[in-house]
Amino acid sequence: MAFPIPLQKYYIRIKPAGMECYNCGVILNRKTRSAEHILPNSIGGKRKAYNLLCKSCNETFGRSIDNELASKLNRFYSLLTTQEPALQPGARKDGKIIVHDRFIAEIKKSHSFSGSPGYFRSIAKICLNFYLTKGYSRQYCETIKSYIRGDNASPPCFYYAPENETVHSLAENEVSHILHLHGSKSSGALYAYIELFNMQNLIFVFTMDYEGNDIDTTYCRNLISDEEPSKKIALGLTRAQLEELAVSSEIMEKRLYPPFERLLQIIRDRQH
Ligand SMILES: [Zn+2]
Repeated sequence: MAFPIPLQKYYIRIKPAGMECYNCGVILNRKTRSAEHILPNSIGGKRKAYNLLCKSCNETFGRSIDNELASKLNRFYSLLTTQEPALQPGARKDGKIIVHDRFIAEIKKSHSFSGSPGYFRSIAKICLNFYLTKGYSRQYCETIKSYIRGDNASPPCFYYAPENETVHSLAENEVSHILHLHGSKSSGALYAYIELFNMQNLIFVFTMDYEGNDIDTTYCRNLISDEEPSKKIALGLTRAQLEELAVSSEIMEKRLYPPFERLLQIIRDRQH
């Protein structure tokens, strides 16, 4: 028996839930959809999703905020993963230069955890990408979306490095990116915790009025072993703790330097 209408048309008539670009709302179909990396390619992200952004928004973010992230973090990925004497990002015209202690020292001296607003917006986009690929409700994403677009002046974004507490257990030479989502109906808090290279550790608060099912999910990508190991994150921040993050940001930022120096040490050890 012949199918009453061409199959192609049949599919177009059904609009799958959540298949609009989360930034501009255009319907995502074969023409408009794009492959959005959950974690940017520039820092070793592998997983892609087609149901997040349209081509146009993907390109706009790629040229702007993702570029800012790449210019700050790509060097660490290159230095970690290259087998050849590393290329110094930005100095490729001059050919290869061998990474030596002085170069590492320069990175150490010039590094700062603060950065351009676009850099943090790009990290927020990683968190939102992860949340949406898990299929969670879009109704709690307005604040973070407006932050990613650049129209929210007070970012829901805080450094996170607790004292005398381990968020997860880090293997001796592990360097990974970690994404974690926590949603609690009883506290009303929904937030993402992210570690890039285990040293750029941030919390993004999606909402303090969360009413959905409890969420506790984690993704880890180990850049050295090129694997995605399971990871247990011990975080269950209360409302009060989340509210205090804005005040403790400066102290938290200082605490990110030891993990940053650990990363540089691993890079140095791998080059020698
Ligand atoms: Zn769009």
